[in-house]
Amino acid sequence: MKQKLFVDMDNVLADFNAGFEKVYSQLYGNKIRISLEHYDVLHDSGLPQKEKQKIYDTVFCTPGFWIQFNPIPNSIEVMEELNQKFDLFICSKPTNKGDMNCTREKLLWLDSHFPFLCPTKQVIFMSEKHLLDGNNRILIDDSVDHLEKWSKGVAIKFFQPYNQDFMDADFDVADWLEIGSLLLDNYEFSTVKEATN
Ligand SMILES: [Mg+2]
Repeated sequence: MKQKLFVDMDNVLADFNAGFEKVYSQLYGNKIRISLEHYDVLHDSGLPQKEKQKIYDTVFCTPGFWIQFNPIPNSIEVMEELNQKFDLFICSKPTNKGDMNCTREKLLWLDSHFPFLCPTKQVIFMSEKHLLDGNNRILIDDSVDHLEKWSKGVAIKFFQPYNQDFMDADFDVADWLEIGSLLLDNYEFSTVKEATN
């Protein structure tokens, strides 16, 4: 039986930060410095949380926002190979707004860049990713929140400046070539996990 592998989208497969910066600039004329060093890209704006949330809601609900991201380099080629070796799923947290445009555009984006994935079998939208956690299951994510709750399976941290202080992932990778090296050999992750626990 193939191992289950769950892969995040934003800032792992899709260059969310660059896409946010682009649409934000179009809407607000670059009046606020975008922080790429924080998970909250409006961290350095100095705005109260309520104002920041308004901006996030506006950007996230802008038609075309979720479909304009560039794929992270080498992700397509490596994912195509992983799709042969693993029971592969996309696992993405949708926006809290309940705006169906987000999930619709994410599906269209995946179909455009990762046409080898089956949208009805291999795409999961959920905020509580840890509900999918289990022995021998692998998660690749950039979010500390999701990684630290992935306790039974294997957590792989996709490096971004804002997660550099999180040291509790089972593996750290800097890019998709490193994911290829780590997962496309015959490594047995269940054995590694047992040995390190
Ligand atoms: Mg992410």
